[in-house]
Amino acid sequence: MGIWLEGKPLADRIRDQVAREVALAREAKGTVPGIVAVIVGDNPASQSYVRMKEKACRALGLWSEVLRLPAGTTRDVLKARIDELNAADHVDGILVQLPLPPPLDSQEAISWLRPDKDVDGFHPYNLGLLMENRPGLRPCTPTGIVELIKSTGVAIEGSEAAIVGRSMIVGKPLAAMMTNENATVTVCHSRTRDLAQVTSRAGILIAALGKPGFFGPEHVKEGAVVVDVGSNAVSDPAEIRRLFGDDPKREQDLRDKGYTWAGDVHPRVIEKAGWLTPSPGGVGPLTIAFLMKSTLEAYQHRRG
Ligand code: NDP
Repeated sequence: MGIWLEGKPLADRIRDQVAREVALAREAKGTVPGIVAVIVGDNPASQSYVRMKEKACRALGLWSEVLRLPAGTTRDVLKARIDELNAADHVDGILVQLPLPPPLDSQEAISWLRPDKDVDGFHPYNLGLLMENRPGLRPCTPTGIVELIKSTGVAIEGSEAAIVGRSMIVGKPLAAMMTNENATVTVCHSRTRDLAQVTSRAGILIAALGKPGFFGPEHVKEGAVVVDVGSNAVSDPAEIRRLFGDDPKREQDLRDKGYTWAGDVHPRVIEKAGWLTPSPGGVGPLTIAFLMKSTLEAYQHRRG
């Protein structure tokens, strides 16, 4: 039986450290790091993520603002608004909440950000620094995943790591980070021929594919560190039973909200893994904590 690897204790330590440094900056300079989230359209998931980020900023003493633009915003208007934020001295971090509604191009919009304000770490310049293993703003979710793995005490160096998912937000930057940490990395995706054969020999398995309860014990090596990045809203009662049995909390969620959250890894994997992150409660809290840390770093780097 493995250990549940909760994200909150590590996230709390990072948040405390950021809050202390923000308080010191306020005392010494009379300023605090500031972040603007740009949200286009009314995607409910994006609205909810932005609310969580605003709440974290308030709790840690950072300044934050949300720039809400209507769904029909043109490319030129979005670019002009991003240019204004790039030029504003009091704005240390800009995050463009993804996905942008079509026909806006997310990758193009990210490339308009000033790299030293790109607190999500998605700008090609920052991704280039990551590839070169040089300091820079790093994508927050992969950073959180690496720190979570380190917190187990299991050595990343020399390990065999399988990453399932190759998105620009999680899988690809994480592959670079794990390589920089000297793991031997295999990146899997929807065309991978024998997924179970790759994942079941990995000492570290990171699941980021967005399919509830996809990985079962048969996909996992005995004693492995398994990080479940998946965050999926599940509303089908039969699927909820397959994942959680008769868990009354899940039934309550279904009654209250019409869905419950599930990761990409079936909870039964805890019987075989050495460590398994819960979802929710694993990687999510770290993503926000590292976003706060990146904003502080952007402030320190630009404003001294
Ligand atoms: P994407 O949809 O962008 O990418 C999914 C990846 O999984 C793709 O590379 C896809 O392959 C691969 N994939 C899909 N099906 C399979 C399969 N059957 N076998 C192998 N690989 C497969 O997802 P994201 O990276 O944005 O997100 C992944 C999950 O992580 C989601 O549940 C998301 O909600 C969650 N997430 C959680 C965060 C957090 O902070 N907790 C932050 C970001 C994401 P291909 O490239 O071939 O299509």
